[in-house]
Amino acid sequence: MKEGASQKITNINSTNTTSAINTVSYNNMNIANNNTAANNDDNTLEVVEQLQTMSTADDNVSLCANCGKEGANNICNKCKQVKYCNAVCKKVHKKKHKKDCEEHIRQIAEKHDEELFKQPPPLEDCPICFIQLPTRDSGKRYMSCCGKEICSGCNHAPVYDNQGNKIDEKVCAFCRTPAPTSGEDNIKRLKLRVEAGDPAAMYAVGIYYREGIRGFPQDDTMALELWHRSAELGYAKSFYIIGASYETGRGVEVDKGKALYYYKLGSMGGDPTARHLLALNEARVGNVERALKHHMIAVRSGQNNSLEVIKDFYKFELATKEDYTKALQSYQEYLGEIKSVQRDKAAADEDCPYY
Ligand SMILES: [Zn+2]
Ligand SMILES: [Zn+2]
Ligand SMILES: [Zn+2]
Ligand SMILES: [Zn+2]
Repeated sequence: MKEGASQKITNINSTNTTSAINTVSYNNMNIANNNTAANNDDNTLEVVEQLQTMSTADDNVSLCANCGKEGANNICNKCKQVKYCNAVCKKVHKKKHKKDCEEHIRQIAEKHDEELFKQPPPLEDCPICFIQLPTRDSGKRYMSCCGKEICSGCNHAPVYDNQGNKIDEKVCAFCRTPAPTSGEDNIKRLKLRVEAGDPAAMYAVGIYYREGIRGFPQDDTMALELWHRSAELGYAKSFYIIGASYETGRGVEVDKGKALYYYKLGSMGGDPTARHLLALNEARVGNVERALKHHMIAVRSGQNNSLEVIKDFYKFELATKEDYTKALQSYQEYLGEIKSVQRDKAAADEDCPYY
């Protein structure tokens, strides 16, 4: 790293904590007093440890790496790739194994990075207008009737019946179920969606529990339980919010390692907010290059506060002009995919910006 770079990062982090707060405070979380993140300089090791838990050692081979006897079950706890019959064999083999061990760890980390830094696929298309759904939450609506996520444009546009007559009653633009008549009605529908195993409903109800809104009592434990269930079903946003809970200590003890672990899963699952927060954490421990890579990917997925960070990186000479130009171009590409006249109209009429 260049001389003075860490001071620059400190500056950037102080300016961009604001963007992180904005992102997270959309869900009314308090991420501001989170200085624990800055004190972790053993990031690489932590990553490798997590990877090892995820990677599976070859269980079929149980020959001792030292004496060759069968039935070895004392595993090298660094690389988890070789086994020994006992601690003595392990100790004897230690020096010989060192180089291989380091190489194993390097390979696992490399393979993991390949997965981690892949551009995830974009969000699905709106099921009505077939234009890609925007990343920004205010640009889409979850429908508790059918469980579809539709864009703000389609939610705003008038709905017509099969004869082409405009339906005056407020109905779901996808399934034409009349809108919930009351808060209780909406809760009833959402609970049914949760029971039906809909991970998006679990995520939404989790938010209501955490905030104690829309008729749900404030309950952090219930919120986390729902997000875990939703995450198990592969809902990427739930990984992000579990990670943020660990980063801020909301409903759980602060645990930086777990926060990063969930941010990674969220990032790989395609949630750009998780990736943005992961990038901020990488920058805090001085991994500017990794941070920049994450922000680039997040920008391509529509994360505009990552674009702001890259602009700052460029300003502080931590990124090149080419990097910044590339980021601007990818954001334009993203906009090209999600822009629509109907969404613009909804944004103007209903104050629901979608980018
Ligand atoms: Zn042995
Ligand atoms: Zn080893
Ligand atoms: Zn639409
Ligand atoms: Zn519907």
